[in-house]
Amino acid sequence: MSTTLWRNIHSVLKALKKGDVRLIEGSISSEGIIYPLIEELGVPREEVGLIISELAKRGILKPETQTTIVICPVCGSHMLTLHAKCPRCNSPKIKKGIMIEHLWCGNIDFMDKFKRGDELICAKCGRNLKAIGVDYRNLGVLLRCEDCGEVFPRPQITYKCSEGHSFSEDEGLLYEVKSYRIDSSKIGDVVDVASLVEDAVSEMGWRVESPAFIKGKSGVTHEFSLALFPSQSSDENRPELVIDVYISDELIDIRQFLIFYAKVIDVSPREKALIAVPGLKEEARLMAEKSSVHVLELNGTHELSERVADLVLGIIENILAKKRDVMSLS
Ligand SMILES: [Zn+2]
Ligand SMILES: [Zn+2]
Ligand SMILES: [Zn+2]
Repeated sequence: MSTTLWRNIHSVLKALKKGDVRLIEGSISSEGIIYPLIEELGVPREEVGLIISELAKRGILKPETQTTIVICPVCGSHMLTLHAKCPRCNSPKIKKGIMIEHLWCGNIDFMDKFKRGDELICAKCGRNLKAIGVDYRNLGVLLRCEDCGEVFPRPQITYKCSEGHSFSEDEGLLYEVKSYRIDSSKIGDVVDVASLVEDAVSEMGWRVESPAFIKGKSGVTHEFSLALFPSQSSDENRPELVIDVYISDELIDIRQFLIFYAKVIDVSPREKALIAVPGLKEEARLMAEKSSVHVLELNGTHELSERVADLVLGIIENILAKKRDVMSLS
């Protein structure tokens, strides 16, 4: 997982923990199913799905069926128009209205064809219609084909998508729109990392930035999950310790490790740590060892904050001890 994604997840979790929202509902827009509540937290639309699935994986969001919509079997579009046709001759020239039957002569037509002022007069036999249920009856709302004259209760419906594909009701695919219920009891583990680390180090006069944006020697700004600075630092912009937190389904491979390591080289902090849930591949682990990267592998996020805080405290104590050694030597 990229640090940007981590930062976005972090800010979503923070907001969910604070807020009293219990349900995240989908909204059907011309671009597809969107989740405005997540977007309002500053998450780019293209990342919303990824963040929701990350949070669902951790049990923070529980999917529910919000509604089921029909989509195009060819392109998946949900922007559909319904086209009504005569079920007998397929003509699109059909009319809809209340129909009545003149029982005396058997004429069936739309009610407005019988209307002459306040009276109902049959166009076929010319008689006045007197009493409903006696000489005429109301057939309710019906449709009639203007081409073949067929009278029917339901038109034949064809769907047409925004890309122009036509399909019948039987051919249409169903798509489940999901809403997500928030289980805030599961949020704590992840969101508390930065605040717990901050609590742990602030007494020692250290400052935590999370997420941290640090300019490297190259002039490029790099992002880390956390960066720690001693309060009395000769260089405000150079952190003593940088940390990236990777939470994923898969082990971190050498390629991901090298992306982290390239940032580290450019920023050149004193110490660097990589937190990986669930862990690193052997190759990446060896590489981390050789390049003095502190590694913390956890098989879940339940003790993430505490373990990261412990690691950070250990590293800081080490840094301080080394500084004391240097001072006593000089
Ligand atoms: Zn289509
Ligand atoms: Zn017809
Ligand atoms: Zn009649």
